[in-house]
Amino acid sequence: MKAVLDHVGIAVQDFDAAVSFYRDALGLEIEPPEDVASQRVRAHFIPAGGASLELLEATAEDSPIRAFLNKRGPGLHHITLRVDDIHAAIAQLKRRGAKLVDEQPRLGAEGALVAFVHPAASRGVLVELKQSATTADSPALAVPARRSEIARYSLGDLELISVNDGFFGLDGGAMFGIVPRSLWAPKALPDARNRITLAMRPLIVRGTRTMIIDAGVGDKESAKFSDIYALQRSRHLDHTLAEAGLSAEDIDIVLATHLHFDHAGGFTTRDASGKVRPRFPRAQYVVRRGEWEDATHPNARNRASYLSDNYVPLADAGVLQLVDEDRTIMPGVRVRRTGGHTMHHQMVWIESGGKAAAFVADLIPTTAHLPDAWIMGYDLYPLDTLAAKPLVVKEAIEREALVFFEHDPSVAAGYIRKEDGKPRVVPA
Ligand SMILES: [Zn+2]
Ligand SMILES: [Zn+2]
Repeated sequence: MKAVLDHVGIAVQDFDAAVSFYRDALGLEIEPPEDVASQRVRAHFIPAGGASLELLEATAEDSPIRAFLNKRGPGLHHITLRVDDIHAAIAQLKRRGAKLVDEQPRLGAEGALVAFVHPAASRGVLVELKQSATTADSPALAVPARRSEIARYSLGDLELISVNDGFFGLDGGAMFGIVPRSLWAPKALPDARNRITLAMRPLIVRGTRTMIIDAGVGDKESAKFSDIYALQRSRHLDHTLAEAGLSAEDIDIVLATHLHFDHAGGFTTRDASGKVRPRFPRAQYVVRRGEWEDATHPNARNRASYLSDNYVPLADAGVLQLVDEDRTIMPGVRVRRTGGHTMHHQMVWIESGGKAAAFVADLIPTTAHLPDAWIMGYDLYPLDTLAAKPLVVKEAIEREALVFFEHDPSVAAGYIRKEDGKPRVVPA
């Protein structure tokens, strides 16, 4: 087995003292922290050549890092080795009688598969094995190995920046509707709980004003929610906005394709006093009226997707603008209702300088959903999706539009081309 050192985890008791050593004395650069809510841990990565150091702080008394500090004191916590094939690595360790913490790989950050080896096997050091998603056999799961990811495109006078609020997992069967698992699983490798990795990629449009379309899941949800939906937000919207040179204060308009939690969760945030308030303090939030009505009157079928804290506080704060029909929201940016996924789900056409781009949201959530019948089981009106999707695909081909795939784990945007009569995505 070939293994490469990925990072070394160090449990830290006194973070300020650690900063004064690693940053001030050694002169290394500490990246913005990443909270792993399910583990009650805050991780600070320090790039060091091909590998990194990871400073680990406990964020709660019941954090495993707190337990480690109480028992062993600060210091080396784990090492992480990257392997090409984690299943083969686990099988080999089992054959050699090595004690394992995880007998099956689980989904880790950035869509990677991870498994821990017991310190008893590795002579006192906790070892984490990691298979980056880029080496998984499924192209749809190929999450970029880089920890962060933004992509910039220019479209006439507009700048488009694909940002990222991290990844999450939904049941693969529900994501592909009537398509049998034997057909979708090779395109989107499911984890042990049958979940497939999906990205959340809002889009920034910079023109006369600065707009964000959708805003990911946000940070208000519980550890239980994070576990159910396999939230991986070690890099989230704050990080990718910063990488794009922006902050929440720069956003003038927030445009919703619809109000499901993986699109609208990031519209609001909880402040220090516990009150939920708009996350983009200067922005007006634009929502389709029909979608607003449905989201504020949920039923047993759609209730799990509509969480009122994501949007009701916008109305309370007086920053909500409801639109009734297809129209231009800012110069070059026009919404168009598609229906299908929800009755009033809308996509966004962006045009400038004779060029076009399409933000298709949950009409075509990933590149795997391009074929007509590959429609999510979540869609409330699948026959409407079946009617709308081929028309949008046709238009995107004719206009040579740059198409953004909000949930695709590896392709932020691409061009749709016809090959042998079948549409195919050529990543941009
Ligand atoms: Zn949705
Ligand atoms: Zn969605």
